[in-house]
Amino acid sequence: MAKESIIYCHKCNLSNQQPTSINEYFHTYNSKQQSVKFNEKNICAACEYNDKKYNYINWNEREKELIEIVNKNKKNNGSYDCIVSGSGGKDSIYASWILKYKYKMNPLTITWAPHLYTDVGKENMDRWISNGGFDNFLFTPNPIVHRKITREATLNILHPFQPFILGQKHFVIKFALKMNIPLIFYGESPADYGKNVGHKSKSFDDKHSKNQQGYSLDPIEGKDFRDCYLGGKQVGDYLNEGFKLEDFTSYRPAGYDEINEKKLKKYYLGYFLKWIPQNNYYFSVDKTNFIPANYRLDGTFQKYASLDDKLDGFFFYTRFIKFGVGRAMMDSAQEIRNGFLTKEEGLRLINKYDGEYPKTYEKEFLNYISMSKEEFNKLCDKFRKKEIWHKKNGKWKLNMSCQKYFENYVKKNNC
Ligand SMILES: [Zn+2]
Repeated sequence: MAKESIIYCHKCNLSNQQPTSINEYFHTYNSKQQSVKFNEKNICAACEYNDKKYNYINWNEREKELIEIVNKNKKNNGSYDCIVSGSGGKDSIYASWILKYKYKMNPLTITWAPHLYTDVGKENMDRWISNGGFDNFLFTPNPIVHRKITREATLNILHPFQPFILGQKHFVIKFALKMNIPLIFYGESPADYGKNVGHKSKSFDDKHSKNQQGYSLDPIEGKDFRDCYLGGKQVGDYLNEGFKLEDFTSYRPAGYDEINEKKLKKYYLGYFLKWIPQNNYYFSVDKTNFIPANYRLDGTFQKYASLDDKLDGFFFYTRFIKFGVGRAMMDSAQEIRNGFLTKEEGLRLINKYDGEYPKTYEKEFLNYISMSKEEFNKLCDKFRKKEIWHKKNGKWKLNMSCQKYFENYVKKNNC
């Protein structure tokens, strides 16, 4: 459900409808998402964190903490020291490179395969491993099962990326346990994009993130897996359709006891190092010859982030339908927080691109989820909440667009 009233951040234009986290194993059509917090001055949590990032956090001290962890965990016996997961995007390139070549660790990079690689995504993946010089383990979940759950996730919760996100998240942990590599490095701190984890969170299971749904290491809480949901549908219902329990092995979380027993440590690199996505992009171009897309990405103005999967555009588009928060808004807000765009420039980009239908890989996406365009559009309409959308002259309009919100604000406050 939408919050009582829609407001936009007075610094970065982000909507207060932006969802933050949910326990995906119990995510159904009726679930309520936690959304980004705003302070009394109408500033979002991501901006508050970025203010600390630029004005408060002592990054030299933070780096010292990292060096301590590195020294403690370096094995110096030829085995891997840590795991970095990624699919060849700018952030995983930066993380793996800096750990290997600056801090002299021996990382194993691992990849949960995208649904459908784009050409540029595949090329960057190859460049990451070949030009960067990394060992990489690629895991491809059973494509028949993955495709089935992705279709269900689209039908039931309009979230075609949920099976990917869920599978990838738990794969990293399970693989670290299996390989006896008890140290995982993630990229930026979730606080960077407004999750309520606090700037002192260095790991997703520490006390600062415990109040967040979706961050639990024991997400199924001892329940029978058949009672959990994948793609908004109970696992037991898949079994009734003829699937077997072992078809879903890749989507099960690791055992909580094993995580504790092996003392698995999971850190956000963004806690220790000042994380600036644009800098990671230039870094990747420099180190592994990373290439941006040669086309503007659907729904946004940029060409260099979230470009490896043909389903990416639909991930952002479906969020726009459900929450009124589009890709251009998310991208421009991030650039504003990091000083690469002004608020006014962001607003112009939102007006121009937010909610743009992802035409580039439409055919591949619809084929992947076995749906016609008419079915998909009808489905989208089912997920448009009346608190967010209304129809005017046969066209869907946001009740309160970012532009209208700020115009009203100026009128009301006479400024
Ligand atoms: Zn903000």
